[in-house]
Amino acid sequence: MKLYNSESRTIEDFKSRVEGVVDMYTCGPTVYHFAHVGNLRSYIMEDVLQRTLEYVGYKVNRVMNITDVGHLQSDGDTGEDKMLKGAERENKTVMEIAKQYTDAFKNDCERLNIRWPETVVPATGCIDEYIKIISRLIDNGFAYLSNGNVYFDSSKLKDYYRFGNQGKEDLAVGVRESVEEDLGKKNKNDFVLWFTKSKFENHALKWDSPWGVGYPGWHIECSGISHKYLGEYLDIHCGGVDNKFPHHTNEIAQTESFVGHKWCNYWFHVEHLNDKAGKMSKSKGDFLTLSKVDEMGYSPMVYRFFCLQSHYRKQLVFSEEAINSAKSAYQKLIKRISSLKNEGKEIDNQIFSEYKEKFKSAVEKDLNTALALSVVFDVLKLETNDDTKIALIKDFDYVLGLDFDKALENNEVVVDSSVDSDFEAYINEMIEKRRLAKANKDYKTADEIRNELKEKNVELIDTPQGTTFKIIS
Ligand code: AMP
Ligand code: ZN
Repeated sequence: MKLYNSESRTIEDFKSRVEGVVDMYTCGPTVYHFAHVGNLRSYIMEDVLQRTLEYVGYKVNRVMNITDVGHLQSDGDTGEDKMLKGAERENKTVMEIAKQYTDAFKNDCERLNIRWPETVVPATGCIDEYIKIISRLIDNGFAYLSNGNVYFDSSKLKDYYRFGNQGKEDLAVGVRESVEEDLGKKNKNDFVLWFTKSKFENHALKWDSPWGVGYPGWHIECSGISHKYLGEYLDIHCGGVDNKFPHHTNEIAQTESFVGHKWCNYWFHVEHLNDKAGKMSKSKGDFLTLSKVDEMGYSPMVYRFFCLQSHYRKQLVFSEEAINSAKSAYQKLIKRISSLKNEGKEIDNQIFSEYKEKFKSAVEKDLNTALALSVVFDVLKLETNDDTKIALIKDFDYVLGLDFDKALENNEVVVDSSVDSDFEAYINEMIEKRRLAKANKDYKTADEIRNELKEKNVELIDTPQGTTFKIIS
């Protein structure tokens, strides 16, 4: 299998350290808000990477963190804690916000067929590990105390930059999002390992440490969690390209200084999803969530298909035109797949092997998912029996995760779950009729209306504020 490694900036032959096993770490979301579809693009492609590795025979041990502390407004360790901002915005506690948005993220993943990694750990769950790492870094002269915080000393490393020279961008980090520069640092690339001194004295999450009561920096959580669950070596580390610097650069700096040798062999970075205004970002406020995209008429499967149509190392622009064309292509594909019938014929082994090989070599070539999709279309056009096509389509869907199995079982695959306005008007009219029936104690009519709607896949939900509905598939 060939994989682009952002560290060497070349496509390499992938080789795991232990034969047949891949240790893989993924930077998880900062759970102060919903994930936007840009974040989800990264998780879709990381999921495809895991599925591909399994498809070609590896067992994958995958660990992901959930950032619920320490990620400040700027990636350069200044500004307010993002979690605290979320809690203030919604008048909730930080832990309530963390739970709410972790659950929402998990739900997004389920709807997108993104498999949940086998180990998912909140940053607040590993404080002892960070303290252990930071203590050794101080003992070995890689970290220092200043102004009450503990900093990593980037000047101690000969090769701090690992993903190319970030010269210009790093200067911008300190001033990004109009936050001040941290005066406690000795060098501009030093970063906080442990905060005790914060402008935000009411920080909800504080722990005792040898350096005073405080909380961990953002970068140390990934080094700590990865070390605790995967040990001193990693095969693959994943994330979006914005994480190359400073986050992943700092993860490498502190982990390698702690373990004393090279840590991770392959860095897998997913390019950004942009909208017309540029990079999608949560801090911009009005961002596109999966639910919004769904309401616009593009189901999660259409969005997954849209992502798979382009290469993970290319920027992708979300426009109505582009997602519309993905929708019609996916619709056609599902229609063709649903029309395949088990004929009880023997699978044509030669065709099966030939097309499996074509598909495998596409995904093995640095995840060429667009080419892999074209193999699916080719299979559907083949002059062979349906049983052979069904076997291939099922096999491919292990990697693609596009609900082909549902289509084959003739279960409905939702392509557009938005409700058209006439239908919505009809539902609202029925809800009003039911309300009047209930007010007149005519429960029989009220139940009939509920059942009639249920037959049309509409489920009514009674709340203290009135009745709402959802479409069930
Ligand atoms: P966050 O929740 O901000 O920590 O980000 C979660 C993941 O989404 C990280 O891997 C980011 O690098 C990635 N990410 C952030 N913005 C985008 C974007 N516009 N497109 C693709 N991935 C993104
Ligand atoms: Zn991380």
